Amino acid sequence: MAELRQNLATREWVIIASERARRPNAYAEAPDHLHTHELPEYEPLCPFCAGNEELDLEVTRTPTQGLWATRVVRNKYPALSLNGSISRSFDGVERTITGVGYHEILVEHPFHNTTLALLTDEEIYAVLEMYLGRGQVIAADPRVEQIIFFKNHGERAGASLHHSHGQIIGLPIVPGRIRHRIEEARRFFDDSGQCVFCTMLNDELSRGERLVAVNDYFVAFILYAASSPFHIWILPREHRSIFISTSPAALRQLAPLLRDILFRLYSHLNDPDFNLIVRSSPTRESENNYFHWYIAVVPRLSRSAGFELGSGIWINPSIPEACADFLRSEPQPRGKGQNSLLDRQ
Ligand SMILES: [Zn+2]
Ligand SMILES: [Zn+2]
Repeated sequence: MAELRQNLATREWVIIASERARRPNAYAEAPDHLHTHELPEYEPLCPFCAGNEELDLEVTRTPTQGLWATRVVRNKYPALSLNGSISRSFDGVERTITGVGYHEILVEHPFHNTTLALLTDEEIYAVLEMYLGRGQVIAADPRVEQIIFFKNHGERAGASLHHSHGQIIGLPIVPGRIRHRIEEARRFFDDSGQCVFCTMLNDELSRGERLVAVNDYFVAFILYAASSPFHIWILPREHRSIFISTSPAALRQLAPLLRDILFRLYSHLNDPDFNLIVRSSPTRESENNYFHWYIAVVPRLSRSAGFELGSGIWINPSIPEACADFLRSEPQPRGKGQNSLLDRQ
């Protein structure tokens, strides 16, 4: 029988469609695109490849001498304008705020044929350090209420360029979806005196069946109420509300864990398209007792449709515990490209 499961933190329901669930390895179909590591190292038309830099858009790079490792550029077609002040106008149904804020792109590597899953721990650490550093700069701007860090990998995840990159958006408002999560977390705290995310993390650690990877600072698991196959959360064990307050020691531990999770997805599921989102408290609410920042990794393996839009209830055609078990197993070589990838490890 199918089962409805509720996410303790968001109180959103999903349908775990066990009768039409596919086995986890059924999601590892050969992709309709090349694996990232099969692409050329340099793509003449790619604006993010080393050698094609659009310097007028550059915000910062590291290191500053020689070949860069990571670069931040302003989005050429930004969703928000960097310059200007906030002005609000509320006139009946016409409610607006000027669209000021930040829209930056973080190019995660100079080469075209790589992605976070394939970087070294040191390279991933440099990427995370850059996200954190830009986040701290953007959070200091009094116009910014909320920072969203995210990645789109692959066409189904909405990426228009394959070159490994992420985006940072600094918004002049707190989005409704984040406000909703904060209100639910605050309600849980009022009722129990506990952070709901700490509660989930401890419960997942003691149950163990949905864990994918753990270390001294972070825990990664497939959600009990995963809204789609292989929907993973990565939480810091220490209660922290905003990503940008992560200590260097914790960031050092996040790098290998994130690489491990993304490499498991890459090798077990054939370089799937995915979104990665950092969920964090609004900049002005900084550290608090009820909200706990985390990373959500959402592979794009099933499609949503009218029912999801109409109800807000997702139908997940996979069993979270089986997906976690599959991801914990050693990757099976599948075809030539896959073998050469495993040989590189
Ligand atoms: Zn490129
Ligand atoms: Zn917590």
